[in-house]
Amino acid sequence: MCGIFGYLGHQQALPILVEGLRRLEYRGYDSIGVAVDDGETIQTHKTVGKVSDLKSILPASIDGTLGIAHTRWATHGGVTQANAHPHASENGTVHLVHNGIIENFQQLRKSLSKRGVECKSETDSEVLAHMMALELEKGAEPLDAVLSTLRRLRGTWGLCIMFKELDMLVCARNGSPLIIGQGEGETFVSSDPHPLTAHTQRVVYLEDGDVAVIHRGSFNITSMKGHSVEPNITVLDEAWGEAELGDAPHYMYKEIHEQPDALRQCIAGRVDREMGTGRLGGMGLDHSTLIQAPHVRLLGCGTAAYAAQIGQMLIEKMGRIPAVTHISSEFRNNDTVINPKAIYLAVSQSGETADTISAIKEIKLKGGQVFGVVNVVGSTIARLCGKGVYIHSGPEQSVASTKAFTNMVAALTIFATQLGRTRHLSKDEGRELMQALQQTPHLMETYLEDIGPIDEAVSLLCEANSVLFLGRGLSATVAKEGALKLMELAYIPCLAYPAGEMKHGPIALLEEGSPVVVIAPNDHLKEKTMSALHEVKARGAKVILIHEQGDAIASEGDVSIAVPAVHPALTPLLTVLPLQLMAYYTAVRLGRDVDRPRNLAKSVTVE
Ligand code: GLU
Repeated sequence: MCGIFGYLGHQQALPILVEGLRRLEYRGYDSIGVAVDDGETIQTHKTVGKVSDLKSILPASIDGTLGIAHTRWATHGGVTQANAHPHASENGTVHLVHNGIIENFQQLRKSLSKRGVECKSETDSEVLAHMMALELEKGAEPLDAVLSTLRRLRGTWGLCIMFKELDMLVCARNGSPLIIGQGEGETFVSSDPHPLTAHTQRVVYLEDGDVAVIHRGSFNITSMKGHSVEPNITVLDEAWGEAELGDAPHYMYKEIHEQPDALRQCIAGRVDREMGTGRLGGMGLDHSTLIQAPHVRLLGCGTAAYAAQIGQMLIEKMGRIPAVTHISSEFRNNDTVINPKAIYLAVSQSGETADTISAIKEIKLKGGQVFGVVNVVGSTIARLCGKGVYIHSGPEQSVASTKAFTNMVAALTIFATQLGRTRHLSKDEGRELMQALQQTPHLMETYLEDIGPIDEAVSLLCEANSVLFLGRGLSATVAKEGALKLMELAYIPCLAYPAGEMKHGPIALLEEGSPVVVIAPNDHLKEKTMSALHEVKARGAKVILIHEQGDAIASEGDVSIAVPAVHPALTPLLTVLPLQLMAYYTAVRLGRDVDRPRNLAKSVTVE
């Protein structure tokens, strides 16, 4: 969600900033802007729309080596050019870009108004430029102007600020990610590691409360209290550079097809076939912690919450220990009881999900230990938790998650096995599951080589006013993930229900020809799922059936899509594939923006 890029160095800033914005595009945004110091003035250009729209209004070049840039995901004020960032103070001494939300902006706006300063935009961000300018007018140094402004704020910020006629940038972080990249005689600032890898691998992740003063090729970090902070240099993995689209039509298409290899990466070195268990070294869990844990709680949002729900079921099944999944945004406000002996797992692709970060802080405050299940190495959640498991999907750029979902499920399956083996799961059961997991990438490949009649399913879906997804057990959650994918990509209202619950409500929606997606792998619940299938068919609905290869139930679907047979605990890793493809091809056929669906963002860094 939203992005910041900043540059101060020896190269022309504008092309670097525009390229930085392009690499941030995958995060989702609605407007865009850039400001470059040309030596005499600070030139600002901004517009509603995409990087290509910005390029069309930019001059051919701006002669300047210092600048800031922003992609905005509107939280306060409509999507308009006036609300796009950068924002400037009235006298133009301060220009800034902001990610996050200033909660007390109305109060701050009123006090500015009393001093005769009126905001031009509706955003919460603009007040900051005016407040800093007033401090400068009083004679404060730039760092002090920023610090005294920040001390009056409530909310979250990733900020990159430039000052007229000053060869410097000031950055600040509180709850919204910001990373400094150190080059040779040049410094980069970004809200995301992806754009930095094009320039440097040496980066510093700012921590909450950090304020950095950047000069050409050097920077200093201070705390909000003004104390000096020692920077912690991280070397970025090159794999985090831009994953090129290559011949693929969309990132989502590419990422769906990367799932077998991504899964191999996730499993590599984490399976102990001899002992029939998992080995998640980064969690640093000893046997006594695993044995004594009274329960497990999992946290996530969107797709990550569905991966967590599948993990929850496997933890209960194999570990015989109560497990509950919480939607992070609810968890943090519900004053949930925290048992410090319990195991808490925070699941997030980006590792920057603001709701999950808040939930983690709440648990830690109450003495609980949280483990991250995260894709982006060095992200806020990874660092906040300290321990956890990286899911190793590689960069996921499509807003709709695919390969991160399957790897979250795989990582949680390994965890559930590890937990189960310290309790009731036998060596043979553990071995069988771990061997089956190692074969799953190949089964995924087999399916992706022959995806079945997806086109026929898409024809039914494109015409639909709404779509119902049904499944039981693990497949009830796969149904939710399938419904989420189709809804977010194709903008078709979708409802997912446990198949047995259908008759208690959603059956009322069914009419002649309504498409219903039924997920019925060959597990112990299949027969019961088939009862629901017959109930919907009896009402004239058209069934898109996802089943295992060779299963006689194939004849029951109006459209039947077979996936390779797999261990019953691993069916989500296969059954989700046709659902991803159905959502993808439906969106393509309806002409939707597949990689960047409207209103959505890749990493949701606001609460
Ligand atoms: N709250 C700010 C706005 O609405 C910043 C949004 C963002 O993080 O992009 O303009």
